[in-house]
Amino acid sequence: MENEELWSKAIAEIEVAVSRANFATWFKDTSIMDNNNGVVSIAVPNGFAKEWLENKYHKFILKSIRNFSPEVRSVQYIIQAPLVRQKPIVSKKYHVVPAAMQTKSSVPATQLGFKDFEVDPLTNLNPKYTFETFIVGSFNELAHAAALAVLSNLGKVYNPLFIYGGVGLGKTHLLQAIGNSVVQQDRTKKVRYITSERFSNELVNALKQNTINTFKEKYRDCHLLIIDDVQFFSGKAKTQEEFFYTFNTLYEAGNQIVFSSDRSPKSISDIEERLRSRLEAGVIIDISEPEYESRLAIVQSKAKEKNIDLYPEALEIIASLIQTNIRELEGSLNMIHMQSQYLNKTLSIEEIKNILSKNIKQKTSVTQSQVIKIVAEYYDISDKSIFDRTRKTEVVLPRQVAMYLIREDLKGSYPTIGEKFGGRDHTTAMHAYQKIKDHLKKNPKLEEDIRRIRQRYQS
Ligand code: ADP
Ligand code: MG
Repeated sequence: MENEELWSKAIAEIEVAVSRANFATWFKDTSIMDNNNGVVSIAVPNGFAKEWLENKYHKFILKSIRNFSPEVRSVQYIIQAPLVRQKPIVSKKYHVVPAAMQTKSSVPATQLGFKDFEVDPLTNLNPKYTFETFIVGSFNELAHAAALAVLSNLGKVYNPLFIYGGVGLGKTHLLQAIGNSVVQQDRTKKVRYITSERFSNELVNALKQNTINTFKEKYRDCHLLIIDDVQFFSGKAKTQEEFFYTFNTLYEAGNQIVFSSDRSPKSISDIEERLRSRLEAGVIIDISEPEYESRLAIVQSKAKEKNIDLYPEALEIIASLIQTNIRELEGSLNMIHMQSQYLNKTLSIEEIKNILSKNIKQKTSVTQSQVIKIVAEYYDISDKSIFDRTRKTEVVLPRQVAMYLIREDLKGSYPTIGEKFGGRDHTTAMHAYQKIKDHLKKNPKLEEDIRRIRQRYQS
């Protein structure tokens, strides 16, 4: 396997397992520069990244690489100036640390063991999401209260519980915290967490492999079923049908169902009415964007959790400038911490403001579906045909452009992009992204096309 392909595959696994903020921070601008005699050399942009990868992620990186290339015995990290290195896989748009800095930093030398990424195979829950680390403020207190009520009256009140809100606002955290608490209180309770996309994929596989009964049993036999990001049931008739029966079975047996979604049941398009009415049958609660006090509480708590020692005003500045969501708050906190370690000094308020303002993304409210629609319009094909399984250039190019834009501008993950485009594998999305990216460099027409498409959704 070629170096680039190997790293693409390994890094896709890593991306799924680590938080977005950590991924963006530590895996940006990395590549495999050499793979010889069982030793893989990974190019990293600076000493800081080298230290973190070595000290924190090494085991995990090695494991991911060996999944695809079992003959690899060890991995080493080599600092390379960005120009020398080949195409980095992680986008340039991610937050960057000035490359020229080389101060000694002090990364805690504890390896993040597999535990940190470990998802319980039975429940699909990640133990890191707990109520203890979930900060409650006015923006999410209703959702939190409902979660607690569900916890103490499983299947009896608020059934189903439907929580919705924008990206990075804590839906997954809250849902998983419910699951983890239920298991903690009573080991005999069967709990399952699954995203709607995976539910759909598993169903497709079960149908192919004639294991549909096992599939049915798996999801109809639990005390608590958690379905994350249920909006992706949209347009999937077969999945909706199967889930409808799953729901009824669980519900009639008095078992609890919890949903999250990025929008209310009413706003989910292409969904059967009978299923929509089930989603609406219990309690529907939204999580809004955190206000300043909550943002501050979250930054303070994350700093403490991660042993990040920043002075109070620094935390306040982060909380006041980063207003989008909690994931961004975490990312910004990491970044400020990193830079101050790099420079080996305390950053002034002005310096912090400067760093943050460079990285505050312009809010784009466009959705993946809108991007697809705009791309299809631009290339004058119907937006349905963009999903067709065809190799015709007039469809393939728009499809790849749409995938590229969703990745680049909406920060979609490869697995969700693949899924969005008709259940394709994440490597397809990765390939499309890379292809457009490469072509952009030598094809001014394509560059112009993309600029115009962007104008349509950015204006
Ligand atoms: P969503 O599923 O809504 O997109 P996540 O649950 O993945 O968002 O949250 C994004 C990140 O923010 C996660 O790292 C999560 O632990 C953290 N987070 C979200 N809400 C809270 C909260 N109320 N308190 C502490 N951390 C939170
Ligand atoms: Mg989520």
